[in-house]
Amino acid sequence: MSDNKELKVQNLTKLYILVMLKSKETVTGYYILEKLKQDLNKKASPTYVYDFLKKLKVEGYIEDIAKGKSKRSKGYKLTPPGSAFIDRIFSRFDNLIEVAIQSKLEICTLCGVKLYGKFHSETIHGEVKNFCCKHCAKAYKNSLNKIEE
Ligand SMILES: [Zn+2]
Repeated sequence: MSDNKELKVQNLTKLYILVMLKSKETVTGYYILEKLKQDLNKKASPTYVYDFLKKLKVEGYIEDIAKGKSKRSKGYKLTPPGSAFIDRIFSRFDNLIEVAIQSKLEICTLCGVKLYGKFHSETIHGEVKNFCCKHCAKAYKNSLNKIEE
């Protein structure tokens, strides 16, 4: 199984469709469209949603539950490979969210300690640098001076 051949889930609409498939026994395209509108305040195009469902089906990630003799779908059900696929996608998004949060945290320019709330800022060579304490700021400036000497 090659990772780069895996179906791409690069937006919230698709991710949310996966959440719905994972959280319910069966879902219909109609249900998905309604939920997207309700929960995300998003008017997704039916073509877009059905297209994604079709791709999931082609991959074998979901199954159509046929409604008796009628060809109309009663809904879709997640398959075990589909469930594994969703777990992979979720863990990837997990990492993404973690990275996003981490990158928002300032760190001390000198010692790399994470700075929550109060910290010491100084403008050095026209750039604002953050430090955990004055001592780190001083040591940092000293180290710069040494390089410049
Ligand atoms: Zn520090």
